[in-house]
Amino acid sequence: MYLDVRNATKTYGSFTALDQVSMSLDEGEFVCLLGPSGCGKTTLLRLIAGLTRPDSGQIMLKGKDVSMVPTRKRGFGIVFQSYSLFPDMTIAQNVGYGLKIRGGDAQSVRRRVDHLLEMIKLPHIADSYPGQLSGGQQQRVALARAIAVDPEVLLLDEPLSALDAKVRTDLRTEIHSLQRELRLPTLMVTHDQEEALALADKIICMNAGKVVQAGSPEDLYLRPNTRFVADFMGISNLIAPDRLRLVAPELLAGQPRETGRQHLACIRPEQIALSRDAEGPARITAVEFLGNLRRIRLESPAGDLVAEVSGRIDLAPGERVRLEIAPEDCSWVEDDTSGVAA
Ligand code: ATP
Repeated sequence: MYLDVRNATKTYGSFTALDQVSMSLDEGEFVCLLGPSGCGKTTLLRLIAGLTRPDSGQIMLKGKDVSMVPTRKRGFGIVFQSYSLFPDMTIAQNVGYGLKIRGGDAQSVRRRVDHLLEMIKLPHIADSYPGQLSGGQQQRVALARAIAVDPEVLLLDEPLSALDAKVRTDLRTEIHSLQRELRLPTLMVTHDQEEALALADKIICMNAGKVVQAGSPEDLYLRPNTRFVADFMGISNLIAPDRLRLVAPELLAGQPRETGRQHLACIRPEQIALSRDAEGPARITAVEFLGNLRRIRLESPAGDLVAEVSGRIDLAPGERVRLEIAPEDCSWVEDDTSGVAA
């Protein structure tokens, strides 16, 4: 294991921000810490960076315990949400800062800086100051500065969240290709599930100071373990078995056998196909045009449901429909939210 967090706990007074959290990151891997505001993502990142001390637990880097090693000696590159460039230094001085304090000579620092500015596609701004750049450009520079020193791990704390939509997706693509090219082990904090799905090799989903599920983007989206993860990863139709019987009884065969915990069927909107049927159990209440797809809202004996189709449809509000769902597209999740049926 390249980076390994073992049973990290962090409390603030009587509040437990991290509760026995373990996670790992392999060589070359892009891992996203995903979860709602306040779940402990930033605390975990700061703890890995050495900016916060855990109450207990260990941070292992390449097999060595670095829990007591100060931040600057861990050799990590960090990019925060707000552009934390030095305002009185030029872009070249900002990017070259880490190299200079490590004793690099002026010429080789400048060569490396020029190369990095090429990589982030901003070759002509070496002599500009941060205040002259847009938010997206400043974040690119912050990224170049973090990469400059060949970090052991690149730590990104919501680096895209202050940017507007277009710049955000552009920079997301940029981060993705840079990370793949350099194979830099990267840990990114985000509360945006789409960002995590697009970037990560592995997503670690957190809630209330605990890791609730870790796995590939496909695992978390298509095979969530719990209702919390299913909801957090996107729109889902969550249906209790007694209600599922009323709209798609054939899916009940896949229900987990174990008793005790309540399980819900989880069906993503794009996994529901609709066909017009006057005797069908559901009725269309609205069709929303979303550009690349249409979202169809349904009223049914199983409660309100959502389906999504790409392309045109010949169905309209008021029509009755039958639902077709392939058994393999229905996953079963544990109802971890107080046992209330969907
Ligand atoms: P966000 O996306 O909002 O930043 P997060 O998942 O990153 O959320 P953290 O910043 O890790 O969450 O915070 C987790 C919890 O710990 C929050 O409830 C926060 O109020 C609390 N917390 C964090 N730092 C401190 C601190 N220095 N003192 C007291 N409480 C803190």
